[in-house]
Amino acid sequence: MEFIDLKAQYKEIESEINSRIQNVLQHGRFIMGPEVAELEERLADFVGVKHCIGVSSGTDALIIAMMALGIGPGDEVITTPFSFIATAETIALLGATPVFADIDPATYNIDPALIEPLITPKTRAILPVSLYGQCADMDAINKIGGKYGLPVIEDAAQSFGATYQGRKSCALSTIGCTSFFPAKPLGGYGDGGACFTNDDELAQRMREIANHGQDRRYHHPRLGLNGRLDTLQAAILLVKLKIFPREVEARARIGDRYTQLLQSHGAQSSDRSRQGLLVPFIAPGNSSVFAQYTLQSDNREALQAVLAENDIPTAVHYPVPLNAQPALKAVAKPGSTPISAQIAKRVFSLPMHPYLQESEIERICDILGTALASI
Ligand SMILES: *Cc1c(COP(=O)(O)O)cnc(C)c1O
Repeated sequence: MEFIDLKAQYKEIESEINSRIQNVLQHGRFIMGPEVAELEERLADFVGVKHCIGVSSGTDALIIAMMALGIGPGDEVITTPFSFIATAETIALLGATPVFADIDPATYNIDPALIEPLITPKTRAILPVSLYGQCADMDAINKIGGKYGLPVIEDAAQSFGATYQGRKSCALSTIGCTSFFPAKPLGGYGDGGACFTNDDELAQRMREIANHGQDRRYHHPRLGLNGRLDTLQAAILLVKLKIFPREVEARARIGDRYTQLLQSHGAQSSDRSRQGLLVPFIAPGNSSVFAQYTLQSDNREALQAVLAENDIPTAVHYPVPLNAQPALKAVAKPGSTPISAQIAKRVFSLPMHPYLQESEIERICDILGTALASI
C-alpha cells in the first residue's frame, strides 16, 4: 500500500497529461509560457480572488509574500510552531524573527487567543498555517490583524481546496500561499506554488519579485528572485485542476469514513478527549481536504509498528516543533508552547489520497482496532 498513490491518479488522466506536455514541448516556451497565465486565471477563479501568481514552490510563495510586504531584519512575524519547517524558515531567511504562538489542541492550528499577547511594536505580520487540510480560524485572526494593522498570510500549502465559512482557503486573508509539491492536495510533477490576493498593488509586487524584481525586461526597481512557476508544471496542473473538485469530494468522503470506522473501534474526537485514540476534529464551518489524516495516541510507536507489519505505511507530521529545531532555536524569539510539544509526541498519519479504496480503509481500521484492543 502507498501512503499517497500518485500512480492511481496518473492512470485516470494519462492521455490528457501526455498531450498537454507534448504541446509544451512543441511550442517550447518553457519559461512563462501561455499555460502559466491560463493556470493563474483558473486558479484565481477556483479560489475566488482577483489575483493568482504562479511561483516556483510553496516555500518561495511565502518568501515572495513576505518580501512584497517589506518584511526583513528587525521585524517579527507571529506563526505556529506546529508546521513544516518552511513556515518559519522563510521568516528567518528574510532576517526577521519567528515568534511562536501555541496551537489549539483540537484543530492543531494556531490558537487565535494566544496571538494578541505576543504582538509588539516590531510585529509586522501574522502567518497562520491551515494544517492537515483544515483552515485556521481565519476570521478571529483577521480581527486581530485588523485591530493592529497587521497583514495576515495564510500558509495554505496543505489546505488548497478546503473551505472556511463557505469561502475557499487562499481567499481568506491579505495573501494566501499554497504549494503544488506532488504530495499536496493539488500536486504537480515537481515543485510549484502560488500566491493569491485581492490587492492589486501587492499582486503586482509579488509578480515582479517572482521574476527578479523586474517590471520590464532588464529593468529592476526592486530585488527579487528566480521564483517563477515552470510552464510544464502549469500544463500538468491544468489537467489536475479539472479533476480536483472530484478529488476534494473523495478526500472528504475518505476522511469521514476513516473517522466513522475508527469511532466504531472506540476512537474519540480530539475536541473532547486527551485519552485513547483521537480522530481529527473538523471545526464547525470548516471542510477539510485531509492533506493528512492524522490521529493521536500515547502508543503511537506501537500502533505504527503493527500497521507496518501489515504493510500499511504511516508518517509523523511533525515529530519536532519548529521552536525546537536546531536551525531555528537561535533565531526564534524564546517562548513556551507546551501544547505543540505534547502533541508532536503523539500524532501519526494514515495513508490518505483520493484513490484509497473502501476495502483498504476497512482493512486499516480493522488492524488499528485490533491493535488498540491489545495494548
Ligand atoms: C509543503 C509545505 C510548505 C512548502 O511547500 P514547498 O512547495 O515544498 O516548498 C510550506 N508550508 C507547509 C505547511 C507545507 O506543508
